[in-house]
Amino acid sequence: MTQYKTTIGLEIHVQLKTNSKMFCTTSAQYFGSEPNVHTCPVCLGLPGALPVINKEAIESAAKFALGLHCHVSDVSKFDRKNYFYPDLPKGFQISQLDLPIGKNGWLVVEGKKIRINRAHLEEDTGKLIHAKVDGKSVSLVDFNRSGVPLMEVVSEPDIDSPDLARSYAKVVHQLARYLDVSNADMEKAGMRFDANVSVSKEGIDKLGEKVEIKNINSFRFLEKALVFEVERQIKTLESGKQVIQETRGWVEDKAITVSQRVKETSPDYRYFPEPDLPPLVFNEADIEKLRKMLPELPDKKMDRFVLEYGLDKITAQNLTEDKNLAQWYEDGLTIYAKDDKNKAAKAKVLANWVVGELIRNLREKAININSASIEPAGLIELLRLVDSSEINQTTAKKVFTQMFSTGKTPSRIIKDEGLAQVSQEADLEELLDEVIVENESAVEDYRQGKAASLGFLLGQVMRKTGGRANPVVASKLLKEKLAHGNRN
Ligand SMILES: [Zn+2]
Repeated sequence: MTQYKTTIGLEIHVQLKTNSKMFCTTSAQYFGSEPNVHTCPVCLGLPGALPVINKEAIESAAKFALGLHCHVSDVSKFDRKNYFYPDLPKGFQISQLDLPIGKNGWLVVEGKKIRINRAHLEEDTGKLIHAKVDGKSVSLVDFNRSGVPLMEVVSEPDIDSPDLARSYAKVVHQLARYLDVSNADMEKAGMRFDANVSVSKEGIDKLGEKVEIKNINSFRFLEKALVFEVERQIKTLESGKQVIQETRGWVEDKAITVSQRVKETSPDYRYFPEPDLPPLVFNEADIEKLRKMLPELPDKKMDRFVLEYGLDKITAQNLTEDKNLAQWYEDGLTIYAKDDKNKAAKAKVLANWVVGELIRNLREKAININSASIEPAGLIELLRLVDSSEINQTTAKKVFTQMFSTGKTPSRIIKDEGLAQVSQEADLEELLDEVIVENESAVEDYRQGKAASLGFLLGQVMRKTGGRANPVVASKLLKEKLAHGNRN
């Protein structure tokens, strides 16, 4: 069979986190509000209303562009993109055509450099809601989202698989959150993807006809839609037909893409410079100032975690995936390793707890660390109880799950549930005698030299104590008792 090459480029829309909208003072925090309450003459596109640029949005956009390793242009400008749609009240969208705020950037994803053609600023549209009112099918329009600042990040077609497309999208998402320029909240449509995809026969330089898939709102759907589309295009070519250049939509419940329209090209939008807004001018000092405001970015943080804390790369990657989780870890380590003793060992123990139990609990509840009630100090208290043998690992995991869901301190939970480890020989004595009496044949086997039977007997001790017996103390005492029995 012929081998095919896949070529993908992504356009990612990211809503910027600003107090007010892009060109008016209306609040941009509209999520969950009644329809059409976050509006004013500007974002409703009423005749005569004039836009005013939001400085906060410009700074966020420039920071985002710098984070994408883009060149931030000294001068950029806004343009009108003309088209008609009911969610666009002005009949045009203010966007940027030939002088975007950022251009020629790149990101490294899974070891591959993906070039970014441009990152430009525009305003979001309103939203159409298709509903039934009094038994009639109607389309309603909500302008709350109209005029919210959007950054559009356009990659070069450097992505060669649906899997890499998903990873790239995740890296852009992570960057937006690290920079704190966007919540990039997928559930609230704070980040949306358009994908361009084509296939061509291996060895042929010319790219195949490009198909655009519009408005995908999750990483998983992005990958699924691309996998479907690549297969569809290959099948089309294999059957001797041509792939048509068009726009397709992803239909989630059928897991297919369907044709929507033949793609518009730039001339169709009749772009021209926005006459109501001045150009954006950045001088070197402005850009330097913004560059200095950038936080430590994910790659750098990961490398530092490997170097400074001696963690392996995968653990460091898991810890730094979310900036707030990385901070939580470092706050915890500051408390745990306060005396500077065994810092390297403590860094690893804590990392394993965060990557293991903490992330598992967060995933189960489908929340991020900021919404969790557990504090670093609580986990450190728990780890110290393990270090001093007051509880064992198994109990600690149980306690942790309770801490996570109730927000109680570990000592409180251990006290309430009677979970403290049984370490006193006197407390274990009677239990061990019981186990010896109840398991005659295992005791006999052990005395005949079958060392494995000791493990079985210890298991019985653990069962009786609900896992609370201190294994070191119990094992020592059990051996003594068995040896003592031998002498009889
Ligand atoms: Zn407004």
